[in-house]
Amino acid sequence: MISARYREIGVRMENFQQAIPGYVQQVGWTVKKTISGQNSFMIELKKGLFDKAMIKARGIPQDIYVEVEGPQEIMDIVEQALAGSCDNPGAIVGWKQQAAQQAMELAKSFAGIFPGMIPPPAPAQAPTQPVQVPTPAKPKLEACMHCAAPLTYDPEEVLVICNYCGYINNTTGEQAPRYSMLPIVLSGSQAIEIAKDHAAKGVFVTRGMAESAEWGLIVMRYVPNWAVTINLEGDIEGRKALFKTKDVKKQVAQEVALQAIGGALGGMLGGSGEAVADRTERMSISEAMDVPVVARKAPEFQPDAGAYKIPLDRKEPFKKTGEETLNVEISAQEATERAKGLALQELRSRYTFVSRFGVGAYPMGEPELIYAPWWFIEYRMGGRSFSVIVDACSGSVIAGQRPWLPKGVTKRR
Ligand SMILES: [Zn+2]
Repeated sequence: MISARYREIGVRMENFQQAIPGYVQQVGWTVKKTISGQNSFMIELKKGLFDKAMIKARGIPQDIYVEVEGPQEIMDIVEQALAGSCDNPGAIVGWKQQAAQQAMELAKSFAGIFPGMIPPPAPAQAPTQPVQVPTPAKPKLEACMHCAAPLTYDPEEVLVICNYCGYINNTTGEQAPRYSMLPIVLSGSQAIEIAKDHAAKGVFVTRGMAESAEWGLIVMRYVPNWAVTINLEGDIEGRKALFKTKDVKKQVAQEVALQAIGGALGGMLGGSGEAVADRTERMSISEAMDVPVVARKAPEFQPDAGAYKIPLDRKEPFKKTGEETLNVEISAQEATERAKGLALQELRSRYTFVSRFGVGAYPMGEPELIYAPWWFIEYRMGGRSFSVIVDACSGSVIAGQRPWLPKGVTKRR
């Protein structure tokens, strides 16, 4: 998510909202839905079948806050719309500049997030989006490096598959990385059965309700994943979680529960509860973690770290298939940076409390590109739309907003 706050620019909120559709259309997006409030609005955008984005704005003319979920080009264009609908465009501090300032502040407060954190020797990236520095225009590749057929692709894409011979071209003209693909094992109807099982695990959802949901669009896409291996080295002083969670509130809840157990046990044993509750341990960490990073920019593709394993034992040499293959939008280098953050996050989630986090994340070897066949399934239940992704090779559910039905919602026929 990208966000920025604009002060003292005198925004005319209505004009700003009305200007957005025209601007986003210039970069190929269309408005799907607009919701406007008194001092706020929300615009949902879409591009093609898969790309979704959201613009949210709220505030008063002299202090407005804008949030974009989606690619940076949208934030750029929103800023243009903003400049065209305010009284003092000269006072706009661009979001990139704001992000750079925030990154500096974040770096300063990083010690506060991981108390006692000792910076690893290698230059570490905070687990947030790196600040984008403008890169010089790179030479554009126009023909396949293998068969010389013409290539067409979006400017965001870094690796492009030739439509004629199936060769993977690096648009910078450099050598392509190692790559392979996974076979399709599951049919669409098998994938839907898996999706139903997944849906039925939702709160207040029965298998019968999952069965009678409207199972709609199902499409297959080959999705590029970077398989990155990250070596975690260092030590941690803290308390191990009973179950791992990335949610800080749940981490705190576990802490409280442990102290209560400790206190109760202490009382029964007639001693101090501290001994049980205070399980702070110092552990040395030396672990290689496989981290899949989806090579697409849209966030809805990204599985949780640790939630998806690429079935690497089934990989095969890449060949062109009849299925549509998505091109790569995230370079090996970007994927490695992202994987470092994800690996540290996954490790941190195993602890409820950390008093010292001295772990460094180091990439091992070169990332390998794996094209994985994924079924994208949409369904409607209780008047809402959900989507599930099922890996057609391993059958695992990758992303899936599980339905949560509030009480009183009856099933629809
Ligand atoms: Zn070719």
